[in-house]
Amino acid sequence: MLLKQLVHFSKKTIRFCYQSQTMSTFKSRSNIVTGNTEWVFVDDDNFDYQQELARSAFADMLHDHERNVQYEKAIVKTIQNLAKSTKKIHILDIGTGTGLLSMMAARSLNQTSNTDCSLRITACEVFQPMAKIAKKCIEKNGLSDRINVIDKRSTELDLEKDLQGDRINIIVAEVFDTELIGEGGLRTFSEACKHLTIDNENLHIIPARATIYIQLVESSKLQEFHTLKNLSSENKRINIPNDCRHLAGNTIFDLNVNEVKDYIRPLSKPIPVFNFNFKNLNEANNFTEETILENIQCDYDGRIDAFIMWWNLDMDEQGEIQLGTIPTWCYDDPEKAKNVQWREHWIHGIFYPQEPKIIKAKDQVSLYCFHDEYSLYFDVGTSPFSPRSFTPAILGRLAMAAFNCDKRRQRYMQALEKSFSNSSIKHCLYIGDGLLLPLLILEMYPNIELIILQSSNIHLANYLEAILSNSSIKLNYQIISSLDKDTIDLQTIDMILSEPFFTKSILPWDNLHFYYLIQKYRSKFRSDIKLFPGKARIRCLALEFDNLYKIRSPVRQCSQFDLTPFDEQILKASVDVDETIEPQSLFEYSSKKPALSSICDLIQINFERNYNDASEKVDLEIPFTANGTCNGIAFWIDYELNENIWLTTGIEHENDSWVNYSKQGVHLLPIPIQMQSGTKLKISTGFDFKQGQFLFEIIY
Ligand code: SAH
Repeated sequence: MLLKQLVHFSKKTIRFCYQSQTMSTFKSRSNIVTGNTEWVFVDDDNFDYQQELARSAFADMLHDHERNVQYEKAIVKTIQNLAKSTKKIHILDIGTGTGLLSMMAARSLNQTSNTDCSLRITACEVFQPMAKIAKKCIEKNGLSDRINVIDKRSTELDLEKDLQGDRINIIVAEVFDTELIGEGGLRTFSEACKHLTIDNENLHIIPARATIYIQLVESSKLQEFHTLKNLSSENKRINIPNDCRHLAGNTIFDLNVNEVKDYIRPLSKPIPVFNFNFKNLNEANNFTEETILENIQCDYDGRIDAFIMWWNLDMDEQGEIQLGTIPTWCYDDPEKAKNVQWREHWIHGIFYPQEPKIIKAKDQVSLYCFHDEYSLYFDVGTSPFSPRSFTPAILGRLAMAAFNCDKRRQRYMQALEKSFSNSSIKHCLYIGDGLLLPLLILEMYPNIELIILQSSNIHLANYLEAILSNSSIKLNYQIISSLDKDTIDLQTIDMILSEPFFTKSILPWDNLHFYYLIQKYRSKFRSDIKLFPGKARIRCLALEFDNLYKIRSPVRQCSQFDLTPFDEQILKASVDVDETIEPQSLFEYSSKKPALSSICDLIQINFERNYNDASEKVDLEIPFTANGTCNGIAFWIDYELNENIWLTTGIEHENDSWVNYSKQGVHLLPIPIQMQSGTKLKISTGFDFKQGQFLFEIIY
């Protein structure tokens, strides 16, 4: 059986790039008991796609009022104009989703004075469950006789068979992601123009054009997500070699920069780098394009740490109707900046130069800009990237930030000091994919012999070796490939350490794989072996998110169309896939302060104990300390590294900022609840040790 479909995940949106119509596939699941990613073959016509539906931020796009309004304005304007000069309009809605843009087109003809003009609407959608939803939504709004939905990718449409030879004179499509082109929009437009439309001159595309902008910025915070920082300026032994510094690769880091603007200092004006006229795309070399921009003026002294990227669409040919993802600080009108549309489906791209560059105000720099069919790349200078420069990601952006976070480093150093000073500990075993802790131990405690269990992520294992072999002095370590082989006597180990962090982890408690590893080999170790960390606790906090709740809240009416069939399907999909807690990096999402509740401890796990596959479940109450609408509950895990030295993956106090080096778990309430200070929310929670699953439920 073959994996027929390719589903390409970006951080913020799920894009559906189906290569066949067959509906059987594999789905992956991270198993924290075994530490493996399991692939399960799903032959069910729906299940896997339900999951994609449930996880996609599709609803957020429909809540994007500005997007909907600008699309409708452009559709109405284009149809009205064309209706003046032609008797027949055939509009193709590529990627119809819920059918929204087609329904806007159907409605627009009612607003057109020239009634002689006939309007035919064909909508296509590659993602079959979505095409079914489109049909239902269109029917619900009484427009089934006006819109023909075809469940195909636009590039598979046949002019004769699917369109009866009736060529298209308007294309409308919203096939853009944060990077603009990541959803394959360039080929989508180009192929449609080649095979399905009338002559270029009389063709109208909505949107007509796009421009990609970048801005040079200084931001040591953004660098923290990109470059591994040495342990300290005076470290004596370990020096991270240059080619091990950028383990998160050089592809886009997508982030809502409006939420972190305090960490970003612009150094230049917005710079337009690529223009796309969707009617005239250049498909040479598979849509690649290389540009060197010279004499780019820097406005301030500083260091170019990153490029912020966004885009703007000319929705109509005259460029009067605009839609874009411009950062708030680039608005001329401060009033507009205050009312910027919050959206999750289109945010901003962060790109990094190969090396940060110090500049002075009035300096001029050159920029190397490149895009292929799906991705963008930028650098300071004029030289093209060497193929090696397109580095794949080995560590995630947050894992890079975890390595670099000073506060976290200090916590480890403090705990290591407490563990190792005045102790007889000599032989330690390190388990996990975190790079920081083994480096700190080897740098600070040359008398400790560190046995490192090789990461199952072979690239990471190679990088750790490359870093260690670059040391100025011989370090006291050995790397073993497995605990099953008798290469070392496990009885000699005094302490097992872990950050704990595994690259396969998705939710905070997935790193409890550390506990399962210890349990598996418990009998081989001495009974007095010490564990670092020794305990974990899962905690939660009730919140009123300013916006994040929108990604899961029902759409109901959108531009006065009834989209309840979409809501019902999403709700069904969420229930079917049983995903009540999703990973989110909460430093990117604001919520009402003070938080609605105090921090609530849910479960404490002692790594020394054997929970014997038990399922621990308790009923608890979250105490509310402020009035508000509770629309989300955040979960995270803290580790006790050493007696009373805790390290958090969330926050330490209710109103702190969320750490930027770990995702938290979030439950977004399907129906938000009004809560008063002094009241309590009943929950049932626990941990199923057999399955390695955190359990949580609100008791309504
Ligand atoms: N037009 C809808 C949905 C936009 S989301 C709206 O504006 O609300 C983009 C949709 O396009 C997704 O459902 C995706 O599956 C679909 N899609 C992307 N490229 C496509 C293509 N080339 N042909 C058909 N569908 C496509």
